[in-house]
Amino acid sequence: MKCPVCLITWDDAKGSVCPQCHFDSSSPDARDTTKVLQAREAFKTRVSAYDPNAKISRWDIMKPWLAVILGFGIFMLWLKACGSMIGGRMMRFGHHSYSSQH
Ligand SMILES: [Zn+2]
Repeated sequence: MKCPVCLITWDDAKGSVCPQCHFDSSSPDARDTTKVLQAREAFKTRVSAYDPNAKISRWDIMKPWLAVILGFGIFMLWLKACGSMIGGRMMRFGHHSYSSQH
């Protein structure tokens, strides 16, 4: 089956009603171009109306990940700061012991 409204395809066994836009492809409306176009417009409006919500939910999914990435970034900066501090101290210590030996 192919939906004349949202143009998706699905298994014939699942019936003639589109699983995405719920348009009945076997109804007389499916053969009426104006009605199909009307349904298509209605579907597009519905999809664009849903879009902001979809964006918000996607943003909600992203938020914890951003927190994790931000936390990891701060941790890396902290690690780098500590690492260079320890590394600097060790280098100075190494240099000191090296020069005292000679
Ligand atoms: Zn459809």
